Amino acid sequence: MKTERGEKTEARPADILRKPGPRRGREHAIRGIPVSPGVAIGPIFDTAEVPTEAPRRAIGTEQVEAEKARLAEAVNLSRKQLGKLKMRLSVLPEEAQEELAPLLDAYVLMLGNSRLLRGARKRIETELLAAETAVQDEAEAIAALILAARDDDKPGLQRRAGEVREIARRLTRNLTSTPFRSLKGVPEGAILVAEELTPADAALLDPTRIAGVATDEGGADGHTAIMLRALGIPAILGATGLSESAERGDMAVLDGAAGTLVLRPGEKALEKGRAALTAFAKERTKLAKLRRLPAVTTDGELVELQANLEIPAELPLIAQSGAIGIGLLRTEFLFMGREDLPDEEAQLIAYTQVVEAMGGDPVTIRVLDWGGEKDMQALSEGVAPTHSGPNPALGLRGLRLLLKRPELLEAQFAAILRVSERGKVRILLPMVTNPSEVKAARDIYERVARRLRRKGVTLPEKLPELGVMIETPGAALAADAIALEADFFAIGTNDLAMYTLAVDRAEAEVSHLYDSLHPAVLRLMQFATEAALRLRMPVSVCGEMAGNPRLVPLLLGLGIRCLSMNASAIPRVKQAVRALDIADCARFARRVMEQSDPARIHELVLNFETGSEKG
Ligand code: PEP
Ligand code: MG
Repeated sequence: MKTERGEKTEARPADILRKPGPRRGREHAIRGIPVSPGVAIGPIFDTAEVPTEAPRRAIGTEQVEAEKARLAEAVNLSRKQLGKLKMRLSVLPEEAQEELAPLLDAYVLMLGNSRLLRGARKRIETELLAAETAVQDEAEAIAALILAARDDDKPGLQRRAGEVREIARRLTRNLTSTPFRSLKGVPEGAILVAEELTPADAALLDPTRIAGVATDEGGADGHTAIMLRALGIPAILGATGLSESAERGDMAVLDGAAGTLVLRPGEKALEKGRAALTAFAKERTKLAKLRRLPAVTTDGELVELQANLEIPAELPLIAQSGAIGIGLLRTEFLFMGREDLPDEEAQLIAYTQVVEAMGGDPVTIRVLDWGGEKDMQALSEGVAPTHSGPNPALGLRGLRLLLKRPELLEAQFAAILRVSERGKVRILLPMVTNPSEVKAARDIYERVARRLRRKGVTLPEKLPELGVMIETPGAALAADAIALEADFFAIGTNDLAMYTLAVDRAEAEVSHLYDSLHPAVLRLMQFATEAALRLRMPVSVCGEMAGNPRLVPLLLGLGIRCLSMNASAIPRVKQAVRALDIADCARFARRVMEQSDPARIHELVLNFETGSEKG
């Protein structure tokens, strides 16, 4: 009997994109991008095999075209995902390539003019079924036919039925925005392994249960990486070939700082892992002692060290870190994993919790920055565009979406304004490219304040400051004009590097090109910083650069005196600040800014030594 694609394949069962090959059982080391320091030793919990059952749904005749369009979109997305997987095959051992390539080809063929898709479309039209229900029904019908065939090669039949079901599962996941794994039931102390983890998935991880995370996809400064660092979970991303080699239950040693994962470690590797774990714990204890000491340079310059907050669960970690306030509260968590929008009251409760927990220290709340790599579909239907366009990162992201849907911005401004009597609050606007956008946001802000006052809400006489994220080259180069409309700047180096270098921050394939120390990025930072300092306007850095102790001399040398970072980075950054002299840093920054070769800049940064810039 012929398969869906009309040929026989030697591929393994389709629902398992990994290979139980001859290498199984042996120690196997995998490299990834180090994204969150710490060491984990524990069993692998591989989440690739999650069944995807979408509830059955019927539709009206008027929805037929829309459902067919949804299906077409899911097919496109699935093709892209498989294309990415295929590209990554080239780095795997030949043996694995031979096995997986035909399988991926089979999947891609099934996304063409296949019986599965023809049948699904027909079911949408004639049976009036939602796309995911139609896909599931058609896949089951085909699988039943395959399994009923008179053929002695039963394993072969099962394999082919599995292929159809697997592609139907991929389509269903994409149609229902179901993550590619279930994070429920991860055993305590396990190392979570997945092809890809979305920021929303990462937000659901419990750092007290999960020892570590490793994925095939992802980049160092994507939101997933940020979330993992924030939660203090040791992690590596972009570890090509990982889910192909790791099997549930395998023992592993993960080193989040070194970017390595050793599967099925031998005694020597285990011993090394244990030693690294102890060393990490010792270092933590030593750094914890810095908590109460001020972040002041040797020549007495105070540097504000603040925390970035992704989810309220981080509050205790922030309290322990010695952070003086929150420099970036990403409010996306309020909108994640829910069907409806959080209203003004729900937001007020969340902001109050954070502001009160900070006990008078400043809290900078950034209004919703939806779009880009962050999962659009998690926003309730009809708010964000249902499809994210050819270039989501260049589309209706951040303030652009909020100005298009001002009621979102109004609710957020109102909730923040209402909490402003309870603590020191500032507001931050994401993804700005034009002074006019800041002006438009300020108009709305002042209108909301007037409305609240009319309703008898007491607001501080001077409204909380309205600041701007400098995270696009446009904003950086227009910083002098934007500064006239803004009360403060926060330089978002994650996006600034992405947009300047045209390199996706979350894409493993191009992660070697993503470089915040590229002279183009540094020059933009310098231009924006100087524009702010000329007006004596506060300016901070709140991208991932801020949490790297090695970069502190350069940032201080550029004139930055406020750094906001994931809470776990604060002790190390404080340690760096306390060893530095500002004049030294300024000289060092001048030397760095004279360079045009990114490699040379890396070398300088790596070799910076306190006192070396003197004289
Ligand atoms: C940034 O872009 O540097 C930033 C801090 O914002 P986010 O990482 O949330 O996009
Ligand atoms: Mg950003």
